[in-house]
Amino acid sequence: MVTKINDVPAIFQIYVPLPDNPLKNLNCYVLKSGNEALVIDTGFNRPECKQALEYGMKELKIDIEHTSLFLTHLHSDHVGLVYELTKHKKCHIYMGKIDYDYFVNTTIGDMWLKTEQKFEQEGFPKEYTTALRNTNPARSFAPSGIFEATTLNDGDTIQIGDCILQTILVPGHTPGQMCLYIQKEKILFTADHILFDITPNITSWIGVKNSLGDYIQSLHKIKRIPIQLALPAHRKNDINIYERIEQILLHHKIRLEDTIDILAKKQNLTAYQIASFMKWSMRGKCWEEFPITQRWFAVGETMAHLDYLIAIHVVEKLVKNVNQYRLIYSAEKCKSKIDLSERK
Ligand SMILES: [Zn+2]
Repeated sequence: MVTKINDVPAIFQIYVPLPDNPLKNLNCYVLKSGNEALVIDTGFNRPECKQALEYGMKELKIDIEHTSLFLTHLHSDHVGLVYELTKHKKCHIYMGKIDYDYFVNTTIGDMWLKTEQKFEQEGFPKEYTTALRNTNPARSFAPSGIFEATTLNDGDTIQIGDCILQTILVPGHTPGQMCLYIQKEKILFTADHILFDITPNITSWIGVKNSLGDYIQSLHKIKRIPIQLALPAHRKNDINIYERIEQILLHHKIRLEDTIDILAKKQNLTAYQIASFMKWSMRGKCWEEFPITQRWFAVGETMAHLDYLIAIHVVEKLVKNVNQYRLIYSAEKCKSKIDLSERK
């Protein structure tokens, strides 16, 4: 299904379903200018996504050999089909340098193994990490192989016909996610950095000290930019982006405070135990009913919040076989140190 979103430059949205996934769909955007086209993100490496994307591209009369592809970040629902779509074809692929390098390390290096070990050190049961090897969509629907890409840094530009798109590096959701910005028309492709009816998942990454801290600063970075049209990678956009940024900041403030409250009741908990006490919006399901995949995301999110509290020196980690956390001050004093405003 193709929907026209904007006239000049011409922007279309291809609805790519993500079956059995709470995200529901990927908004694949296609920008056309002159004889050139840019496709932004692909969907999972699974037949339902491939079919939707190919139908959409056919309807828009674009052929991958004469199209550029921009991948906003390394997640499989964004890059999953890149290899299938472009193997043995001439297609110019762009991706942010940080996420491209991370993707390569994950695909051919030992990043998954390190991530599993990290989760297990935080109390995630070993039998769950083993079970997730085949069921985590991030792994099972990842690209079938490595691809070549032109890697981009913050502020680089891509020209498609007469349209100039600028990259904006927004680390947080992944180590090096990028938004694309058309300055002339004030249009921002937000990728997963800002979503409107779900909150982007922020997890703890190998090699990143404080991904939530990075994410908060990346939200402030977007606040400084004039935006008239914000195009998210999932679901709909129905409120003002600046309002949405404030809502997301508040969401993380509340979650940080909840983490402190949990530790105020009982110290020396693991991230896995803390996650089990947190309030998650999972359609009324309690922790015991959470599927393992959702527990993985919840523990990752909890770890990111704990990393943040360690970075502001209110929580300390007791490094053991299985790490534990405790508050350094009273809950009130810890909460008073949370300041999500822009770092100068
Ligand atoms: Zn994502």
